[in-house]
Amino acid sequence: MKRVKIKCPYCGARATLRPAAALGKTASGYAGKRYYVCARYPFCDAYVEAHARSGKPMGSLANKQLRWKRRAAHDAMERLWERGLMSKAAAYRWLQLKFGIPVEEAHIGRFSEYRCDEVIRMCEELINRQTAA
Ligand SMILES: [Zn+2]
Repeated sequence: MKRVKIKCPYCGARATLRPAAALGKTASGYAGKRYYVCARYPFCDAYVEAHARSGKPMGSLANKQLRWKRRAAHDAMERLWERGLMSKAAAYRWLQLKFGIPVEEAHIGRFSEYRCDEVIRMCEELINRQTAA
């Protein structure tokens, strides 16, 4: 497995690949999961999950607030296909178009707090429009 060299966007320290337990994530759902964690953790609370197979980071390192926003943006997106507004593939194409970004950047794991807020707002708008119709 290839390790990727990445730096923490908050403090500039290197990020190292560590098991979930290093972050205090010991529930069975975290078994086998690994994360790129800022070398200054826990003083700098930034990390991102690694893909199980490729070992590549799923996005950029995120602090607690950004992790929370990315989760909220994911949940907002999920509502689109759970309510049958559009398929998952169509929802990600829609994101791409809305932000004018290439497909490889249309991952919430790469999004900033601002972009996550936009995703949540746009999804709510679509859902409200559907329920009003
Ligand atoms: Zn850091």
